[in-house]
Amino acid sequence: MAYDDYSPFRRNRRRRTIVLIGLALLVIAVGVLAFLRSRAGREPGTTSLSDTAKWVSGDEEARRELITTLTEPCPGAPFLLPSEGWIGLLYGDPRGPYSENHRHQGIDIFSPTEAGVTPVYAAYDGYLTREEYWTSALIIRVPDDPLNPGRQIWLYYTHMVDKSGSPDFIDDAFPPGTYEKFVSQGTLLGYTGDYSGSARTVWVHLHFSIVLDDGYGHYTNELEFDNTVDPSRYLGLAVNVACAPSAPACTTTPLCEEAILSDGGG
Ligand SMILES: [Zn+2]
Repeated sequence: MAYDDYSPFRRNRRRRTIVLIGLALLVIAVGVLAFLRSRAGREPGTTSLSDTAKWVSGDEEARRELITTLTEPCPGAPFLLPSEGWIGLLYGDPRGPYSENHRHQGIDIFSPTEAGVTPVYAAYDGYLTREEYWTSALIIRVPDDPLNPGRQIWLYYTHMVDKSGSPDFIDDAFPPGTYEKFVSQGTLLGYTGDYSGSARTVWVHLHFSIVLDDGYGHYTNELEFDNTVDPSRYLGLAVNVACAPSAPACTTTPLCEEAILSDGGG
């Protein structure tokens, strides 16, 4: 046994090493906890998987806690939520059929009913167009963006037809070939459907998005994420994938710092 083993310096060094290892473990533990907590609220991880399971179960009671219903706009927000249901696919959502490179450009509000039952209302005053060749969609021109005065935006609604292509759940007042027909906020536009336009099966829902103007008075391609705007502040609801809760309710801080936004929107 060497003399050194009894050195008070060495003993101190051992104690210091133990304290340092303890501190390092504590820092790692705190980091892991913070990481898990941040994931729980944001990423479509466990929370949203269990929400999806709840929705798929079809159980009315389980579904009820996911449903957002508003009869008027949230305090301080300009838009009315155009339909009631589970806002299950969020703005910026990368979940299928979307991806990190092709994020969801709007919100999907899943209906607690079968197709043709849950009403769809105009979110805001504007001029409705349904192109001659559009099956399940319509778009409303809002000449003056209430949150960005002077800018024209468009509100796009789709899937309002039965999956087989008929019947059509868009109100008879708006047949294909309707152009620039004024509708006020809250006007009944029709009912939600499950038409996808392809072989892909979709649940009964409304896809709603805010689309930018091309600068020449025409809407841009809604399928491009960069042509759309986060609806959170317009609805007064946190519907961005970065921070949306299970069932968004009216809030004065709908847009979080981590929000995933398009380059073109604001
Ligand atoms: Zn959608």
